[in-house]
Amino acid sequence: MFVRSLLLASALLATSASISLAATSDEQKTAHIFSSLQSDPVRLPLFMRQFPKGADLHNHLVGAIYAESYLKWAAEDGLCISVEQGVILPHACGATPAKGEWLATDLPSNEAAENHMIDSLSMRDFVPTTNDRSGHDHFFATFAGFGPAAEKHAGDSLAEALDRAAQDHVTYVELMISPGLGSMIASGNAHLLHGENYPEAMKALHADLPTLVTKARHETDDMEQQAQHVLQCGTPQAHPGCKVTVRYLYQTLRTVAPSAVFAQLYAGYEIAHTDPRFVGVNFVCPEDDPIAMRDYDQHMRMFHALNTVYPDVKLSLHAGELVPGLVPPEGLTHHIRSAVEVAGARRIGHGVDIMWENDATSLLKEMTQKKIMVEINLTSNDVILNIKGKAHPFALYRRADVPVALSTDDEGVSRGDLTQEYLRSATTWPLNYQDMKQLSRNGLEYAFIPGASLWHKGKIILDCQKPDSSECRSFLGRNEKARLQMTLEHNFKQFESETAHNGLLSD
Ligand SMILES: [Zn+2]
Repeated sequence: MFVRSLLLASALLATSASISLAATSDEQKTAHIFSSLQSDPVRLPLFMRQFPKGADLHNHLVGAIYAESYLKWAAEDGLCISVEQGVILPHACGATPAKGEWLATDLPSNEAAENHMIDSLSMRDFVPTTNDRSGHDHFFATFAGFGPAAEKHAGDSLAEALDRAAQDHVTYVELMISPGLGSMIASGNAHLLHGENYPEAMKALHADLPTLVTKARHETDDMEQQAQHVLQCGTPQAHPGCKVTVRYLYQTLRTVAPSAVFAQLYAGYEIAHTDPRFVGVNFVCPEDDPIAMRDYDQHMRMFHALNTVYPDVKLSLHAGELVPGLVPPEGLTHHIRSAVEVAGARRIGHGVDIMWENDATSLLKEMTQKKIMVEINLTSNDVILNIKGKAHPFALYRRADVPVALSTDDEGVSRGDLTQEYLRSATTWPLNYQDMKQLSRNGLEYAFIPGASLWHKGKIILDCQKPDSSECRSFLGRNEKARLQMTLEHNFKQFESETAHNGLLSD
């Protein structure tokens, strides 16, 4: 009897020990598998596709769409295509299409023309030629090329982006969108700025604000309704994209006249302040554009002025998407610093020219102290700026302890996805499995979604040490960010358990 109970007791002990060790051992096995796969170009993608990714925080919705979708929508809308110019036209073809013009519906019948259009509307197979010699210019020209098909298909676009995020095992996306932007620019053009008198400009624009905001909201409502319909959310046929949490950044353009920039920013701040779907404001278009360069400092002061009126609105700003030669040396010296110190950006998009900033060492220190996160877009920086491999300052930011997370920028135009960004980082720098988890967690830690974090000084907060406790449940109920972070931790556990027992991945 005694022996039997002793055996029973030791069996129980062994069981409980194996349960508690199992979680750790799955993680350790997964870490080992990851390091053994880093030079395996076939099995690493298999691993990385399934790897849970916290967020994609730098994703322009119009640039997230693949050319194939835009061409399909052009056909549905009866649009005409100029194969010669490689663009979708904003109208139907004439009774006799002009030379080089095709009905979009006829395109699939000619493989060569269809392939030419896909290449024209993306970075696929880009080879510099005399007439199309810069990856940077080809990249930005695609937006005008597919613009006419994008307009009516914001909902289809949202559905495509969410389904792709689900396929990449992304928990949360913060998409940049610009509903109602044209009216904001028109309003700015009708109320010219007098110098930098921003309080006066706000007064002048004030009467237009409700109409501008309502229009943007309605367009967002329509987009979401259309996406829900496409994704069949709430039905048994619901797409995987329905499970991805999404919020928006109001995206404004930096390449128009100062009064038009200010009107967009003012309305964008107002939307982010009043509509919880919008969690912040961003500022886009090529940073090296002559207007963007000329007005950069003034733009930063506009943000500064608006911050005093809307202290709750968060900013992520594209800054330092520049390389030597693209602009004069002086142009590389202060954009990131001004975005942080003058505009008050909480996150920086790209930050590629950090090493050319004045006193970069002190700036990096400041970014570490203020926890300014840098959104790293490796594929985009490769195809637009020709920054390849270790020439990217990703490792410098990590060495300085500046938080970084990986994002896609324009996955449709670049022909990528978030898995590809994780693969690029894992095959370029000596990152271990914990580093990958940190990159993934950073996506949620620095997301603008409201609520407190699940983490404090690198550890899960005390209340949630036991995830099933009533304290934790109550904390998660109050804090959406922490809720997403807990979901990510669950996803890691599941991924590690599956990976540790996947014979295809282990040695
Ligand atoms: Zn961007």
